[in-house]
Amino acid sequence: MSKKTSFSFKRDKYKATRGGHSRLLNVCCRKCENIVAVYQKDGPGDLRRMYMDRIFAPAELTDLQDLSIKDAPMLKCKKCGEVLGTPYIYPKEKRKAFRLYQDAVIKRLRKLSE
Ligand SMILES: [Zn+2]
Repeated sequence: MSKKTSFSFKRDKYKATRGGHSRLLNVCCRKCENIVAVYQKDGPGDLRRMYMDRIFAPAELTDLQDLSIKDAPMLKCKKCGEVLGTPYIYPKEKRKAFRLYQDAVIKRLRKLSE
């Protein structure tokens, strides 16, 4: 993942219902600290799930929301192979997401462009 890449926040109904405050996170494997995904977190609270439509990188994890949920992969660390989460549909919004295992990842704040 290039450090030169810049991202701009996605703005939609999901962001609006969470109060408009978003952060860009590097989501890292807790075991080896490899960056697993660049993720837009909307609103306050812990990171318990990662919505597929909010993953900016890497390429193989973007646009997974267009897949059928049964075709979506497990969320795995590419470096050490640790399984970090499982795909599911968040019932409240019928929105595809990865349910993260407890304490599987570390989140680090990231600047919009760096
Ligand atoms: Zn790892």
